[in-house]
Amino acid sequence: MKYVGAHVSASGGVENAPLNAKAIAAKAFALFTKNQRQWLAKPLTEKSINAFKINLAKAGITAEHVLPHDSYLINLGHPEAEPLQKSRSAFIDEIQRCQQLGLKLLNFHPGSHLKKISEDDSLDRVAESINIALDKTDGVTAVIENTAGQGTNLGYRFEHLAHIINKVEDKSRVGVCLDTCHSFTAGYDLRTTTACDKSFAEFETIVGFKYLRGMHLNDSKPDLGTRVDRHESLGKGKIGLECFRYIMNDARFDNIPMVLETVNPDIWPDEISLLYSMIKD
Ligand SMILES: [Zn+2]
Ligand SMILES: [Zn+2]
Repeated sequence: MKYVGAHVSASGGVENAPLNAKAIAAKAFALFTKNQRQWLAKPLTEKSINAFKINLAKAGITAEHVLPHDSYLINLGHPEAEPLQKSRSAFIDEIQRCQQLGLKLLNFHPGSHLKKISEDDSLDRVAESINIALDKTDGVTAVIENTAGQGTNLGYRFEHLAHIINKVEDKSRVGVCLDTCHSFTAGYDLRTTTACDKSFAEFETIVGFKYLRGMHLNDSKPDLGTRVDRHESLGKGKIGLECFRYIMNDARFDNIPMVLETVNPDIWPDEISLLYSMIKD
């Protein structure tokens, strides 16, 4: 089974996200459990937590198909002690919020070396950050997203994801989320079936599909290998529809949340139905 949805708004409270997902006929969704551009957030209230669970059931979506995304401010590979500590605390808070909501996954970007330490040193810090967070929490898997590699962001090579996973102690609580736009602009071609075969075979060899916990389905404004992160609506960018047809018909992508982060929320219902219409039986 394929579980497709979008990164929906949680404005007015996390409990609104499942209803926003239901409104677009999503079978999965992503959300921010706090304002993604601020460090501090009020704790979730009992009322909000209960309403979230009720609305999730109303939407007919299970916790396994919700892929929360953490704050953009967090840098788990930060070269400096104080901001690294701040990021680690905020990350633990994010996991605890997921735990309170009964959710199983937390999606995040690995981090940035900011040209102050090497990529390997920064990746080591990310792994250490994950170890610290997993040790202090329960039941939530840390889902590392691959990136476009814009600026000094890590995670644009499958080797970066493998490097982190190798150093995470509890392998049962670490996974990855592949973003099609990020993969493509990082240099993994996805424009044709042959290109998809090759790029996903590389992913299997270096990371392994057993770690795949989610997908972000986005077309790309920039071209292959440009390392620029700009999403586009499906079929309107440089990747094109063949990639999404490939994914929708490949069992390696079954039973995980697949989330649109495309640029026009007005057409999310159309994009979701387009994706389901691609499935050959
Ligand atoms: Zn993404
Ligand atoms: Zn992106």
